[in-house]
Amino acid sequence: MTRRMSAIVITLAWLFLTGSASAQTVTGTILGTVTDESRAVLPGVTATITSPALPGGPQTVATAANGTYRFAGLAPGTYTLTLSIEGFGTYSEELRVVTGATVERNVSLKLSQLGLVIDRATCVDNMRRILEPARQHEFFVRIDMESSAYTEVTLEVVETLWNLEYRNIGVVLQSCLYRTERDLRKMNEMGARVRLVKGAYREPASVAYQQKEDVDAAYLRQMRLLIDHGTYPAFATHDVALLDQIKSYAAERELARDKYEFQMLYGIRRDLQASYVADGYRMRVYVPFGREWYPYFMRRLGERPANVWFVIRAILGEKR
Ligand SMILES: Cc1cc2nc3c(=O)[nH]c(=O)nc-3n(C[C@H](O)[C@H](O)[C@H](O)COP(=O)(O)OP(=O)(O)OC[C@H]3O[C@@H](n4cnc5c(N)ncnc54)[C@H](O)[C@@H]3O)c2cc1C
Repeated sequence: MTRRMSAIVITLAWLFLTGSASAQTVTGTILGTVTDESRAVLPGVTATITSPALPGGPQTVATAANGTYRFAGLAPGTYTLTLSIEGFGTYSEELRVVTGATVERNVSLKLSQLGLVIDRATCVDNMRRILEPARQHEFFVRIDMESSAYTEVTLEVVETLWNLEYRNIGVVLQSCLYRTERDLRKMNEMGARVRLVKGAYREPASVAYQQKEDVDAAYLRQMRLLIDHGTYPAFATHDVALLDQIKSYAAERELARDKYEFQMLYGIRRDLQASYVADGYRMRVYVPFGREWYPYFMRRLGERPANVWFVIRAILGEKR
């Protein structure tokens, strides 16, 4: 019987700077992981790419012990990737390495999953183990913000890492919290990148605005502070009224469209995501990734059961 395999494939293209603007070349990478039907990784699979863009003819590699393969230094063009191994069917896919698509590698992490609930020092140590290779491979690491019980300690960890000269980190601030304006001014002074969100956690009136109008008004005040004094701010919201005001204010302040970005959740308001990109805005999509998706999903529901209705409404609300 022939078993089936599947592959997660990523194509990346970026500008490779070699000293002067005239010496820029674009190269791309095709990389991925091969697994069987039970999601177990498959080492020793023959991965081959063919393309008219390959002057030396097809290239072949075998997947490593963790099921991964990688083809680097590729010219822009269309490639056919074929994966084969005895006992499995052959998997084939057409891929494009595109020019002009520069990708900044970017991950988001939650400190409660990295030792923060044990103690701060453990968490800083764990973060350093992530930030070192991330720095080497030019990844930007965003530290998500959790409930207000963690705000202070999360910002302390960020500051500690910043003082240890890690500059490839950024933080998230929640407009619903009274303290955010103060935190935001501090991050602006440090030069740390901020993602501004409304806040996903149910918080008491002692620390947070309770009415949507107040949360939205705070978001707009903080948005202005970020546009005027922030470092490459990120505005993570699907609220069209807020999005319109962010775009207007950035235009009024003559902040170029590549000096800030919008962020949305994977699958939510895909119509807006596409139209913003078509209009020349930067849009980053937040994709939960990994095998532990079920506990993540249940935690998000526990934080805010209204998310179920959000998903349904957002899909029904799409304009295509
Ligand atoms: C990229 C990204 C990263 C985030 N990181 C954090 C973080 O680190 N910490 C944190 O506390 N919060 C985070 N959030 C969540 C954020 O705080 C809000 O809870 C969430 O974005 C919903 O608020 P909104 O700004 O979209 O506006 P809302 O007024 O809540 O929503 C506007 C409209 O957007 C749609 N919508 C919003 N959220 C969803 C959803 N989940 N599913 C389906 N439709 C939806 C609905 O149509 C809704 O009517 C993040 C959000 C995004 C997009």
